[in-house]
Amino acid sequence: MPELPEAEASRRYLDSSVLYKKIEVVDVLDERILGNVSKERIISDLEGRQIVHTVRHGKYVGAELDSSQVLILHFGMTGKVRFFKRNESAPRFVTMQLNFENGDQLAFTCIRVLCRVFFCESMKEFIEWKNLGPDALDGLTLGLFKDLISRRTGRIKAVLMDQHFLAGIGNIYADEILFQSGIHPMRTADTIFEDEIAQLFNSIGVVLNEAVDAGANWALIPKDYLLNVRGPGGKCPSCGTQLEMVRVVGRSSYYCPKHQF
Ligand SMILES: [Zn+2]
Repeated sequence: MPELPEAEASRRYLDSSVLYKKIEVVDVLDERILGNVSKERIISDLEGRQIVHTVRHGKYVGAELDSSQVLILHFGMTGKVRFFKRNESAPRFVTMQLNFENGDQLAFTCIRVLCRVFFCESMKEFIEWKNLGPDALDGLTLGLFKDLISRRTGRIKAVLMDQHFLAGIGNIYADEILFQSGIHPMRTADTIFEDEIAQLFNSIGVVLNEAVDAGANWALIPKDYLLNVRGPGGKCPSCGTQLEMVRVVGRSSYYCPKHQF
């Protein structure tokens, strides 16, 4: 499932392909993706506009229009944005498509239709409406992180994945962050020591920055990362111990029993 690094890769993709192009026609092919907006409104508010800026908060990507309104994308399990030219064939599983005046096209594809689009007056309004926590990468400080975690008592893995706590971390990167911090996923937040909180904060930055720099392409992620071997039969990249699995809020959580406590 796309997490912060995948969303950031999509934001950069949009940034490099669709800025300052006039949207001529909007096709909504599957209305199930519409989050807080009707088909009629999204069409009337997008047509004739240009995307002038892109933003990201957690797993959400916003395309700011020259009207200052924002089209916000959430990628669900399988959502992707695909840019193509008039003479190129369209991708499959298109749920919404922007057709630009110059013939370029942008498709929002989604195989399982769990992706969503929203429309808001600003990204700030959207973040408040969704009650999202601070972005897990941009602007997060150790002081803020300590303050946020001191209010929590749940399992640390569940806390990290809670989008109201921090926006952007999901199942895979939560496992990686805990692995690199030496913290067991079942620990509760109120048992995490001061030095471990600092380690956790540091790992969040290191892991997410590494994945963002790799363009969320796992082939470019360091070989000693858990996510390369994370799964049944996987062995710890540091010590070779067989990984173990527990479920936290229903999600498979892999960890090394030798050095995560
Ligand atoms: Zn190990």
